[in-house]
Amino acid sequence: MHDKTIAELSAALAGGDVTSLELVEAYLDRIRRLDASLNSFITVDADSARAAAREADARRQRGDAGPLTGIPIALKDIFCTEDLKTSCGSRMLDNFAPPYNAHVVAQFKAAGAVILGKTNMDEFAMGSSNEASVYGAVRNPWHRDAVPGGSSGGSAAAVAARLTPGATGTDTGGSIRQPAALCGISGLKPTYGRVSRYGMVAFASSLDQAGPMARSAEDLALMLEVMAGVDERDSTAADRPVPRYSEALGQSLDGLTIGLPKEFFGEGMDDGTREAVNAAVAEYERLGASIREVSLPSSHLAVPAYYVIAPAEASSNLSRFDGVRYGYRCQDPQGLDDMYKRSRGEGFGPEVKRRIMVGTYALSAGYYDAYYRKAQQVRRLIRDEFVQALAEVDVLMGPTAPTPAFDIGSKSEDPVQMYLSDIYTIAVNLAGLPAVSIPAGESGGRPVGLQLIGDYFDEGQLLNVADQFQRVTDYHKRAPAGID
Ligand code: GLN
Repeated sequence: MHDKTIAELSAALAGGDVTSLELVEAYLDRIRRLDASLNSFITVDADSARAAAREADARRQRGDAGPLTGIPIALKDIFCTEDLKTSCGSRMLDNFAPPYNAHVVAQFKAAGAVILGKTNMDEFAMGSSNEASVYGAVRNPWHRDAVPGGSSGGSAAAVAARLTPGATGTDTGGSIRQPAALCGISGLKPTYGRVSRYGMVAFASSLDQAGPMARSAEDLALMLEVMAGVDERDSTAADRPVPRYSEALGQSLDGLTIGLPKEFFGEGMDDGTREAVNAAVAEYERLGASIREVSLPSSHLAVPAYYVIAPAEASSNLSRFDGVRYGYRCQDPQGLDDMYKRSRGEGFGPEVKRRIMVGTYALSAGYYDAYYRKAQQVRRLIRDEFVQALAEVDVLMGPTAPTPAFDIGSKSEDPVQMYLSDIYTIAVNLAGLPAVSIPAGESGGRPVGLQLIGDYFDEGQLLNVADQFQRVTDYHKRAPAGID
């Protein structure tokens, strides 16, 4: 059973081949046996999962089941879950059990999905390797010495190891797509505003977006149908109908035009990654697509602009953690200043502190124009170039990450090298566009991800284009060794 996709499990539940309770017991058992060596979960919520599974089975008996009713999923530990610890990978929130559910969580519960637990992540979603978690690094199921990517590394590793058929992630600069690529699974960052951010711990609010992580594009479609939609508690959540993404799959790619941004195939790209991406492009030509080279000339400015804008927003968002209302408070504070300083000093890890310092600097009087305003101008240029390219082609295609999974410890001392892991993903967040990463082969025995970028709110086409590839290839079906 654990090798089945969400779509297959949904059919098995509907056909009465298995109950939700049986499925949940099977996944809980796998987590117990396999996660000690992966560290992909921070919290496993076994009792509530069993209760929710029984409820889902009863609902099915009543004839009131949808596609996700009874399907187990995991949530990145950035989504607030009522009465269940939501740590965001940080000591700051290690003691935090929110009084409410995030919008995405409420939507999954209403659909009858069963929450197995909360997955590990880089602290406050800042990172590309999952080494920056106070709960320790996550290991890549394909290669235990390698990182799973980040910041949604726990979700990616759990899906790859078949500890859950699907999981949520968040993507501020690549944190769904890059770990999906490094773990050989599929992951979608929706258009900014497609999914409500209510109840998602904020990192950089103009970039953050929640999305699904699973093994196939079809499963991403099923999850997105539940996650997407308007929500009055997030004014940036778009008031647009949510298409039945899963029903719009299966369309021919004849006549599709794919643009290859030449800046995505430059220096710094690993040879095996290049070969896998070129082979995928050739596969798309066989499927009827035509290929055209396009240019996004400001691409090289994306990482520098992001590392002004994202830390600036983070420094503001994280000012709420002051040791007063919730979260970590230091022992025996000697007055208010001491409490602020030590609570934040002890509660935040080194990468979060680095971002707060960079962001505070960039926003300070005298530097605002030189850094923050300039970065916003670059952001506009990047967006305009994407809009222009997408007026000429239907989707853009390239690698998700410049290299496959790197070894644990190999970049943790060099933040700039780490930041370059997102060189192909970050511009998409700055532009607010949707993009998906799907497995497209391997390099040196480690998975390679193919990135597809679409126009605003064009998730349906993106998922169809991804799904067509998965109908003729089996990269997304491959499982890491040693997880049975
Ligand atoms: N790796 C990037 C960063 O560290 C992106 C993180 C994310 O998308 N949450 O900021």
